[in-house]
Amino acid sequence: MTLDSLGWNGHWQKAFAVIDVDGLIPGRVIAEHRSHFRVALEGAELSARTSGRMRNTAKERSDLPGVGDFVAVRLAAGDGPSTIEAVLPRISALIRKASGESQPQLLAANIDVVFIMTAPDADLNLPRLERYLTLVRSSGATPVIVVNKADLAHDSIEITGRIASIAVGVPICAVSARCRDPIPDLEQFFDGNRTVALVGSSGVGKSTLTNLLLGRAAQATQEVRAHDSRGRHTTTHRQLFTRPGGGSIIDTPGMRALEAWHSPAEGENSFKDIEALSAQCKFSDCGHKSEPGCAVRAAVDRGDLDAGRADSYAAVARIETERSVPQRAWRD
Ligand code: GDP
Ligand code: ZN
Repeated sequence: MTLDSLGWNGHWQKAFAVIDVDGLIPGRVIAEHRSHFRVALEGAELSARTSGRMRNTAKERSDLPGVGDFVAVRLAAGDGPSTIEAVLPRISALIRKASGESQPQLLAANIDVVFIMTAPDADLNLPRLERYLTLVRSSGATPVIVVNKADLAHDSIEITGRIASIAVGVPICAVSARCRDPIPDLEQFFDGNRTVALVGSSGVGKSTLTNLLLGRAAQATQEVRAHDSRGRHTTTHRQLFTRPGGGSIIDTPGMRALEAWHSPAEGENSFKDIEALSAQCKFSDCGHKSEPGCAVRAAVDRGDLDAGRADSYAAVARIETERSVPQRAWRD
């Protein structure tokens, strides 16, 4: 497998060049186990541990590597293990701060797009969708709403219309994961080897859609889970799955229940780079859409900034000014 097919590009090349790369090679963390990480390198895969220096300098648990992180690896010399020496600055981070846990926990890093899944039955809940949208945007990823089980709905158009009223500018795709036909509307989000995560309530079809998008039975669906409580093919590990056609899907058990996500208002800020740019916008109240002298759009035009992240930033900035309520208050 090439590192490019895992999302390595000019942005990461630059980030890697900034650190002291002496003798280090780039890779991406594809699985997290209790004592080690699985890291994909150009054309190879290996197990690695964090270096002692990295563990000593990490201020929080979320500073340590997690699935999706691009990292700098030192290959094993002699009998010692290969080590992760640095984590490249993340472009997005899903972080959980579970009640009772003192430390925020990284669920997944560098997700480009999140499919927020719903179904046109009892699961459809507009206030919850709105909350999911805010959480996804504040992670730095771009949201897409997927209305699954379209085969069961008589009124898909009416449903997508209702969703569109609360999700202006967000792509909404009505699909049927069980039909097993390729879904070009969703596959396009993997273009450029992007990384996607699926979230939504249990039973909405996340495993079914993951398997369809990967072209293999990587995740046990509910039927299989019911027959085999030990979850034979279920990965309870955090894992990044690669698609044959490029791009990847990250699935981590804790990530599916979006309510648990930690919002950047509580400390983390995934938009630091864009904030620095926005300070240079001509207007201090710039909406970063089409205003003259917008430094954020200029960076997109130059190819220095992903358009999806710029849109997410503009959307979060708008929500924050409109409501200026701590995001914490929106939790269940
Ligand atoms: P998860 O809990 O979100 O991973 O949901 P699963 O993928 O396990 O799916 C839950 C149930 O919904 C299973 O019985 C699937 O076969 C079914 N399902 C998934 N997608 C569709 C769909 O597009 N249409 C219909 N009718 N059923 C679906
Ligand atoms: Zn601007």
